[in-house]
Amino acid sequence: MIDLVKRTRIAPTPSGFIHLGNLASFVYTHALARVSNSTLMLRIDDLDQERFRASYVNDILDTLQFAGIHCHQEEFTQRERKSLYASALAQLRNENKVYACKCSRTERTANLSHCACLQDHRSLDEPGVQWKLLPAAPPTIEMHDWTRGVLVYPFPEEMSALQVRKKNGDPSYHLASVVDDIHFGVTLIVRGEDLLASTLGQLHLAAVMGWEHFRSIQFVHHPLLLDTNQQKMSKSSGSASIQYMRAHGMSKEHVFAELSRHVGGSPSIATLEELEEELLRIWGS
Ligand SMILES: [Zn+2]
Repeated sequence: MIDLVKRTRIAPTPSGFIHLGNLASFVYTHALARVSNSTLMLRIDDLDQERFRASYVNDILDTLQFAGIHCHQEEFTQRERKSLYASALAQLRNENKVYACKCSRTERTANLSHCACLQDHRSLDEPGVQWKLLPAAPPTIEMHDWTRGVLVYPFPEEMSALQVRKKNGDPSYHLASVVDDIHFGVTLIVRGEDLLASTLGQLHLAAVMGWEHFRSIQFVHHPLLLDTNQQKMSKSSGSASIQYMRAHGMSKEHVFAELSRHVGGSPSIATLEELEEELLRIWGS
């Protein structure tokens, strides 16, 4: 039976307070869900327990409510799906598709592709090793773009040694994200353009796993909002946080207008619907 239900999701990481750039992504995803008749789900990418704080999760839920964005919220924590991630990792191990790597984060950044650990043949059970995909990446990779159809990209070098398990034994962000999108039958993924290489890496991971459904997912990579220094907004920069704006007396209309101004839209925005129309006009639909 073909599943005709269309689904998209908002999948924030609770690693800081939601800022204007995050809100823009939420609003745009909500708008695309509406125009494509897709169900909008919420998933909190909360596997990283070192950075996790309950106040960040509350801030996500509170900001969505403030903006008037309603999502389906079943199974929204990733901690409920640990067995799914474990079986994906077991499959990669059984099919000899991963190797153990001891490199530090700095070494990994300096050495984008495969490291000397590839020749070391360490045990995957050695404490403190991460698991990375063995070299098998194709020279190019196809992605279904929401507006432009199938696009062919050169495979990004930094994704060829994709990390699937972290040194503490947890699944990596990429592995959990792909498992979740397949588990929930997601058909449209909306994310910032800084994640394009990640998308291509995840398409490769899904191909390695034999998960055909992932290849049919449509992707939208939207522009990022910049702060006053023309840098990508970060969750740690206080004044752009929605919480800060609200604490300083900004109404919903003010916040929406500020967001619209940031993307080059009209500064006179009163409702979520008007803001969505601006984003669809400027970022595409
Ligand atoms: Zn290594």
